[in-house]
Amino acid sequence: MPEEKKPLDFATWLAALKQCRRCRLCETRTQAVAGEYREKPMVFMLGEAPGGREDQEGRPFCGQAGGILDDFLRLAGLKREEVYISNVVKCRPTRPSSRGIYGSYANRKPAPDEIKTCSPWLELELRLLSPKLLVTLGGVPLSYVMGESAAVGRYHGQAFYWRTHNVWVYPLYHPAALIYDASKKAAYEQDVRNLGEFCRELTANPETWQQKLVEERKA
Ligand code: SF4
Repeated sequence: MPEEKKPLDFATWLAALKQCRRCRLCETRTQAVAGEYREKPMVFMLGEAPGGREDQEGRPFCGQAGGILDDFLRLAGLKREEVYISNVVKCRPTRPSSRGIYGSYANRKPAPDEIKTCSPWLELELRLLSPKLLVTLGGVPLSYVMGESAAVGRYHGQAFYWRTHNVWVYPLYHPAALIYDASKKAAYEQDVRNLGEFCRELTANPETWQQKLVEERKA
């Protein structure tokens, strides 16, 4: 973990991340995975953890969910350069499996202690990038932001403000959920269209949203 002396830059943060051995996930990973640097991106998309393909290529969302991501950007009307993509946990969580596509391991959800141990990396990453909007993909990142177990089915598509990082949060289903459950597709697509609209409003009228916050605090 790099010292928090100012100014910490993204390249230093990334170089230190690649060396991290703070939890057991370092034992089976190929590499720690983070996003491609963007200066003050409009949108920070936050997934759960790298999968097998991401672990091998060192890029988030390059597996099957990556194809859905391209559709996502098109639907939301966002440009790739406006979006930074990363995960709550930076190394692939695995379990032994004889049927693993990528080596002798299969993916699994990150454990609470792995999320906690890895969290300082995400905290620094958010401070370094200062996005306007954080899009959580699935239950793990939403629970991280809310600080408690949170069901995406209840919160998807409803923006709220996260004071810790001065950022709007927009919860979405994880794109991979659509691979296994097509019934979520219509809700997901509507959420993504609304997200695109929200981004454009946030950019065009930032003072309106600031005012909403002031009113919210008074209530
Ligand atoms: S998951 Fe996070 S804490 Fe664990 S080894 Fe990877 S970077 Fe370090």
